[in-house]
Amino acid sequence: MWETRHPPTQESFDPSKKTIVVLGSGWASTSFLKAVNTDDYNVVVVSPRNYFLFTPLLPSCTVGTIDVRSLVEPIRFITRHKSRDVKVYEAECTDIDPEKKLLTIVDSSDVKGESSVSTIPYDYLVIGVGAQNQTFGIKGVEQYGCFLKEVWDAQKIRTKLMDCIETAAFPGQSPEEIDRLLHMVVVGGGPTGIEYAAELHDFLVDDLTVWYPELAGKIKITLVEALPNVLPAFSKQLIEYTESTFKEQNITIHTKTMVKEVREKEIVVKKSDGTDASIPYGLLVWATGNTMRPMVRNLMNKLPESQTVRRGLSVDDWLRLQGSEDIFALGDATATKYAPTAQVASQQGKYLARVFAQLATTEKLEDELASAPAEEKAKKLRKYQKSQDIQPFKYSHQGSLCYVGSDKAIADVPFAQGNLSSGGVATFAFWRSAYVSNIFSGRNRWLVITDWTKKTLLGRDISRE
Ligand SMILES: Cc1cc2nc3c(=O)[nH]c(=O)nc-3n(C[C@H](O)[C@H](O)[C@H](O)COP(=O)(O)OP(=O)(O)OC[C@H]3O[C@@H](n4cnc5c(N)ncnc54)[C@H](O)[C@@H]3O)c2cc1C
Repeated sequence: MWETRHPPTQESFDPSKKTIVVLGSGWASTSFLKAVNTDDYNVVVVSPRNYFLFTPLLPSCTVGTIDVRSLVEPIRFITRHKSRDVKVYEAECTDIDPEKKLLTIVDSSDVKGESSVSTIPYDYLVIGVGAQNQTFGIKGVEQYGCFLKEVWDAQKIRTKLMDCIETAAFPGQSPEEIDRLLHMVVVGGGPTGIEYAAELHDFLVDDLTVWYPELAGKIKITLVEALPNVLPAFSKQLIEYTESTFKEQNITIHTKTMVKEVREKEIVVKKSDGTDASIPYGLLVWATGNTMRPMVRNLMNKLPESQTVRRGLSVDDWLRLQGSEDIFALGDATATKYAPTAQVASQQGKYLARVFAQLATTEKLEDELASAPAEEKAKKLRKYQKSQDIQPFKYSHQGSLCYVGSDKAIADVPFAQGNLSSGGVATFAFWRSAYVSNIFSGRNRWLVITDWTKKTLLGRDISRE
């Protein structure tokens, strides 16, 4: 505990060592940062967020089951514990010049000093900038929908949810307007949409029925999904389990339903029978996956011959960007055969740190080989050649989990040569323990457990922030 709060003095920046610039402070970049050996390199971090966010529990923050502060870890809590001083710039990278090995970074925060645009050089670049919300270009989504990706998204949803409920309680509201205000619509039947709907259901049953007895019965939750079923990555048995659990919880699921337009108070959808319908809503949560960030698209345009996949950055099996020698990319920013998950991103981060350790060894051996006496050359050469043999990245899937409400969760976990599917209250205990054990720091683990205990003993806070 003492050491955590009082990190030792660090080595300073060493101009004789190569500099790795890391873009982002999400799953991929943070797990890389934790594992990279700063004895071998100077490291610089550039991210518009000065913290890491534990996304798997973010849906719990939208209704106050967990406080957002419990899920964030300042990036300096990690970098101050490295052996060498790591520079952290709270900024967005807006441009990468792969020829000159230069980055343009911009301070995109509200407070600006005299200097808010700068360029920084790199020897190696690690791109872990993730992705942005996919809207499919549907009119009105950005303007009226709420996303669920960042801390401020969860805060916005929580505020808007309570605003809808208090507005419904305002005198003189017509029954139709009350129904609209209390209709919470979720678009997207992946794990994020399902977990949000589940958390909202729990909030309704545990808390809103107590504090808004006259309104709680009128609150409706609807989930809209374009595919024939929700949770396409899960086994059929668990999809059915989720759908039946949602039915018991009075959460309506509309599958094979495409959103055509989002208006201020209604969404226009195309139903499975081909007809159009309008769904009035008070709160709309949009959780339909990822698309590339503009900065990533910009980089791809600079490497048109090697960057041909439109989903994201193409990398080789060692996470090196196709078309570049010194740029590496990982996590949701890349287009690989793996799903865009925290599991993949964090394993890639750890793996890349090992690649850099091996690169450092190779470079040292290269120098030793050049200056070795003739009788030692053959031995050094063998060592050098062996050090160049870096294993490609191999993903190890630990399973897929999703909370479905009423203290029930589902899990698809690899077992022996097959897959073990389970759903229910026992799986919820497993879901909780798996997530807690994956939280990076002991401090955050403690905060999350405290929040769960607080919620059980005192209920959730219904104040509008
Ligand atoms: C609500 C929610 C729940 C989820 N639940 C799960 C789950 O249960 N299990 C699971 O495996 N996955 C889950 N995921 C997916 C998982 O969070 C992502 O796959 C993971 O975050 C990807 O990691 P990343 O590092 O690539 O991107 P991110 O974690 O998104 O990090 C990107 C980083 O880049 C920074 N950045 C953005 N633009 C720039 C720029 N221009 N310059 C510099 N930095 C930039 C961002 O600020 C951020 O720090 C969930 C996602 C969400 C949103």
